[in-house]
Amino acid sequence: MTSYHQKVDMDQLTKEAIDWALAHGLVVRPTVDKQQHFKNNAAVIHAPLALYPTPFPRHEFVKAKELQQPWNSLIHKMSQDNDLIQEVMETLSNVDDFMKQLYSIYMQVQQQGVAQSASLGIHRCDYLLHADVGQDASNARIQQVEFNTIASSFGSLSTRMGQLHRYLLSAIDHYGDDKIVFDQLPENDAISAIADGLASGWKLYNKNTARVMMIVQPDERNAFDQRWIEYALQERHGVHLLRRSMTDVIERGQFDEATKTLSVDGHEIAVVYYRAGYGPEDYHGPQEWAARLMMEKSQAIKCPTVAYQLVGAKKVQQVLAMPGRLEKYVDDATAAQLRESFAGLYPLDQSPQGKEAYQMALQSPERFVLKPQREGGGNNVYGDDIEKVLTPLSEEGRMAYILMDLIRTPPVHNAMLREGQVIQGQVVSELGIYGIYLSDGNKEVVNNVGGHLLRTKGVETKEGGVAAGFAVIDSPLLV
Ligand code: ADP
Ligand code: MG
Ligand code: MG
Repeated sequence: MTSYHQKVDMDQLTKEAIDWALAHGLVVRPTVDKQQHFKNNAAVIHAPLALYPTPFPRHEFVKAKELQQPWNSLIHKMSQDNDLIQEVMETLSNVDDFMKQLYSIYMQVQQQGVAQSASLGIHRCDYLLHADVGQDASNARIQQVEFNTIASSFGSLSTRMGQLHRYLLSAIDHYGDDKIVFDQLPENDAISAIADGLASGWKLYNKNTARVMMIVQPDERNAFDQRWIEYALQERHGVHLLRRSMTDVIERGQFDEATKTLSVDGHEIAVVYYRAGYGPEDYHGPQEWAARLMMEKSQAIKCPTVAYQLVGAKKVQQVLAMPGRLEKYVDDATAAQLRESFAGLYPLDQSPQGKEAYQMALQSPERFVLKPQREGGGNNVYGDDIEKVLTPLSEEGRMAYILMDLIRTPPVHNAMLREGQVIQGQVVSELGIYGIYLSDGNKEVVNNVGGHLLRTKGVETKEGGVAAGFAVIDSPLLV
C-alpha cells in the first residue's frame, strides 16, 4: 500500500493545515471540558480533518452527482404519496414512538388543511464504494448508504475542506509525493448552493420583511458549519436568518390562526430550516412536539416538511428497494439507473422475505447491518450484536428495524488530524451529494445538485458520523 507523504515534512503539513483551518472557519466548538476556560463560547478548534484528499474513482463521483436530481424529484414524489406514508407509518407507529409522533403531526396537518403547499428540500445522498470479496479494488462501485432529508450537515465545512486541500497542494513541497494535480480536486459549492436554496424558498414566500429561521440544538458544537450558511444567505441575498432552538420557539413563537403566519420574537418566518428535530433527543416532551406542530401547520415553508422527514426513514428506503416500487415514481430507465447503486435491503416483518431476512441475519451477521429508524450516527448494529438485539424482540418489535447488506469498501491510506493529533492508517470514505429542491406545490421550481461531502474514518470503525466522533472531514482526489 502506497502512503503518499514519504517526502513530506509531516510536522510542517500539520501546522499549515491547522492554521489554515482556524483562519478560514474550518472549525467546531471544542468539547465542553475544553470550553470551560472561556466565557461566552469564545473558543474554537479545527474540525477533525484528513491531511490528504482520499482517492475516489472519478466515474463513480460523476455517477453519484448525476443521480442527485432524480433523487430530489423522487423524494418529493414520495412525500406527496399519502398511500406510501400510510402504508409504512401505520406499522412503524406501533413500534417506534418517535415515528408515531411525526406521523401524528403529518395526519393532523392533512386533516386541518395544508396552509403551505410548497416544500423545500436540502437533502444529502450518501454512498460507500463497494467491491465484492476477491474483486479488484479498482472495480469498486458506489452503493447508497442512505438518503437524508432533514438536517443534512457539513456542507460548509466540506466546502472549506476542499479549499484547504488545494491550499496544501500549493503550499507544501512534495504534497502527495507530487502525484496530485489540481484538476483532481473538484470544486465544491455546497455553501452557496444551500444558501441559494434557502433564498429560493424565501423568494417564493414573497414577503420582504419575513426571515428565515434555523432550528438549532442549544449546545451545537458544529455551529460554524451552520453559520457559513447564515452568512452566505445574508451576503448573497440580503436575507436575515434567525438561529432559534425548539425551546425559543415554544417560549417566543406565535401562530396566527386566521392568517396561518408564524412569527418568532416579532419576526414573520418565511422558511423554517431544521438543523435539529431529526431525533427524539430534541423533543423533551409535549411542548417541543407542540412547537413542531405549530411550525408545520403554519404558512412558513418548511425545510423539510414532516412528510419529507417521514419518507427519509430507513424503512422507506427499504420499501423503495422492493421490486416495482421505484417504477411508481420514475420511468423505467431512471429506475434502473437508481437501482444500480442500491445495496441489498430487507424487511424484518412477517412477510416471507421478512422471515427469511431474520434467519439470514442470525446465521451470517457479519454480512449485514441492522438499522433502526434513527439519524445522526451511532445507532446501527453490527456483527454479533445483531443477534443480541434481535432475539429478545417480539415479531412486531423487529419491524422497527431494517436489515441491509454490509457494504465492503476497499481501504486506502491516509493521515487524519483530530484535536491537533495525527492518526495515520487504513481508511474508508463515504461520499455525500447534496440535493436542493423546491416545489411550489404544483411544479418544480428548483432541482439542483448542491456540492459534495467526503467523510473518512479508520477502517476498523463501523459507524461514520463526524459529529458523533467517528469520522473526519475530507475531500475527494479524483482518480
Ligand atoms: P445515520 O442516519 O445515523 O447517519 P447511516 O445509515 O448513514 O445512519 O449509518 C451510519 C454509518 O454506518 C454510515 O455513515 C456508515 O459508515 C455505516 N453504514 C451504514 N450502512 C452501512 C452499510 N450497509 N454497510 C457498511 N456501513 C454502513
Ligand atoms: Mg441519516
Ligand atoms: Mg448517515
